[in-house]
Amino acid sequence: MNRREILKSGVLATGSLLLSTERMGFKRITHDAVNGETYIALKLLIGELETYILSDGIISLASIQPTFAPGTEESRLTNELSKLHLSPKQMEMGIHVMLIRKEDKLILLDTGSGHHFGENGGKLIPSLQTIGLSPEHITDIVITHAHIDHIGGILNAEDEFIFPHATYHLAKKEYNFWMSEKPDFSNAKGNQSAADFNISFAKNMLAKINDRIQLFDYGQELFSCLIPELAEGHTPGHTIFTIHSRGKFLKHIVDTFHTPFLVSKPDWGTQWDTDFDQAVATRKNIMKEESENSTLLMSCHLPWPGLGFIDKRGKDFYWRIYPYFNPINITI
Ligand SMILES: [Zn+2]
Repeated sequence: MNRREILKSGVLATGSLLLSTERMGFKRITHDAVNGETYIALKLLIGELETYILSDGIISLASIQPTFAPGTEESRLTNELSKLHLSPKQMEMGIHVMLIRKEDKLILLDTGSGHHFGENGGKLIPSLQTIGLSPEHITDIVITHAHIDHIGGILNAEDEFIFPHATYHLAKKEYNFWMSEKPDFSNAKGNQSAADFNISFAKNMLAKINDRIQLFDYGQELFSCLIPELAEGHTPGHTIFTIHSRGKFLKHIVDTFHTPFLVSKPDWGTQWDTDFDQAVATRKNIMKEESENSTLLMSCHLPWPGLGFIDKRGKDFYWRIYPYFNPINITI
């Protein structure tokens, strides 16, 4: 049916469209269903590697500063946000979790936020269920860094393991930082109470999984498809990954950028970085290299589903969302 035929048949008129979808056996999604256990997963085929991007929900900040762009003049921030079509009043970030199926392994990259973000987070399990999986199926979990939105889903509110059969994998450098006697936050721009909270949360969680962790070095390939690389600053051991199969690949840059304006203004930074200046330097290195190489990037918090490129317009960098057309299935 071409557009003219569709118009002639009246299918586009709202009433008849609803009627016709119901006649075809489609179930209309109600508001209740969306608020229930339904959530979202997107299949992403990288070469022959089956992966999924699962939503764990969103992080919502009532005000952008000083968490982001601390010390930047408000009018400059507002101007940049408006250029990028972002709200000046609040900031929302997705929490995207990747799942990789490799032979008999089901590997998650992080666990999402668990019960710590209330209704906004903890959607990873319903998202897994949309592809017919439950937490018992997960064999391995690779932790990118030990922040609450990445390790908060290790335990449930009753302190029980959510993924009972999983082995955890974490970079030695990240583990050693959090488990050291006094993790150094002297180069962060956040306050000490936020640092103390992060430290005690990470120490507690890593201690809980201590006998289930395998520590890895950067460059040591995991599961014949994941190459970890150090991208320090956000945390000292913040790990990014090249995910590859049959010559196809993407680079998962994890928390290098939380928002598109950190791509256009990398110096503005965030209080969430353990070392503010180091995080700026890492951001700039990645921007230069990956824009020159036109690398397909994946990110934990940039607009859903987190896929995109860093492009250059004149001398300015910007985040370009990956254009995809099948809403539930991407092949690269
Ligand atoms: Zn994060």
